[in-house]
Amino acid sequence: MEQPDRKKTRAVKVGKLLIGGTAPVSIQSMTNTRPHDYDATLVQIKELAEAGADLVRVAVPDKEAVPVFKKLVQNCPLPLVADIHFDPDLADLALDNGAAKIRINPGNIGGIKRLEALALKAKSCNAAIRIGVNAGSLERRVLNKFKGATAEAMVDSAAGYLEIFENTGLKNLVVSLKASDVYTTIKANRLFSKDHDYPLHLGVTEAGPPSTGLLKGAIGIGALLADGIGDTIRVSLTASPLEEIKAAKKILQSLGLRIFTPDLISCPTCGRCEVDLVPLVNQVERLLENYKAPLKVAVMGCAVNGPGEAKEADIGISAGKRKGILFKHGKVVRTVEQDQLLEALKQELNGYT
Ligand code: SF4
Repeated sequence: MEQPDRKKTRAVKVGKLLIGGTAPVSIQSMTNTRPHDYDATLVQIKELAEAGADLVRVAVPDKEAVPVFKKLVQNCPLPLVADIHFDPDLADLALDNGAAKIRINPGNIGGIKRLEALALKAKSCNAAIRIGVNAGSLERRVLNKFKGATAEAMVDSAAGYLEIFENTGLKNLVVSLKASDVYTTIKANRLFSKDHDYPLHLGVTEAGPPSTGLLKGAIGIGALLADGIGDTIRVSLTASPLEEIKAAKKILQSLGLRIFTPDLISCPTCGRCEVDLVPLVNQVERLLENYKAPLKVAVMGCAVNGPGEAKEADIGISAGKRKGILFKHGKVVRTVEQDQLLEALKQELNGYT
């Protein structure tokens, strides 16, 4: 499978993880438990790690959340990002207490002097800062200059803050340029990527519930990744953060950037279909979640187009009248009754992990 040529960015260290450089595109999400509830937040971070997150962001909204954050850093399996708004003292405290990265919107954190101090603090802690530029909260200067929250305005805002941080010598910087509309997000990231080599955190912000958010995320993040742009992603959904991780994995896998499970190919069904394909494919999809091998598995509904696609796959099923043909690496392995197709596929998967 061909994959996009990734644009070369500088590598930024976030705890034990690298973002950018030659590192794989990393996956992240944000906890939605109460940030003062240590037990619930730790459980969720562990679930996210298990699901495939590479780093996790946790809100630190007030001083009471700081000791909880500290304990999470000490006990959780992934680098933690502290999400800070408005209060630079909280950013300082999060860094003092082990944040691998802090995510700030530099426009709401207290002016240039405070940003410089924060950059020096991050440098001394060997931590990273994400400059999170959001179309919904751009500073007056750029809104006036560009007559609104345009992609150009977002890039100008990010460039201004980068200059402040660079002047302090801090290089461990990640940038995000997010808008709730997909095309502005794509355009802003493309523009930024032309002139800067800082790693980009991609996402379409406030993308909505899964019914629309998955599509917005897949289009916005996917278009940029296909251009070779993007080093870490968050699929923003009004849903469990675990859904965000699942979606992120599917986006990366569909572009061949990372492989997590076998690739499932199945036909859309039509009037020729000889089997109740939808439940069968759902069962196969659940089965394949248990495997990591980079296999192509095809499940096709009839003998017209089915065998061709099934032969191309590593393992393929092509349904026919009451029976189905099982293929392995292009060769017919056997013919089985339709109600035995899933079991036959399981047997062929034996030996793969
Ligand atoms: Fe229709 Fe057969 Fe194609 Fe499936 S494989 S869409 S059943 S023609």
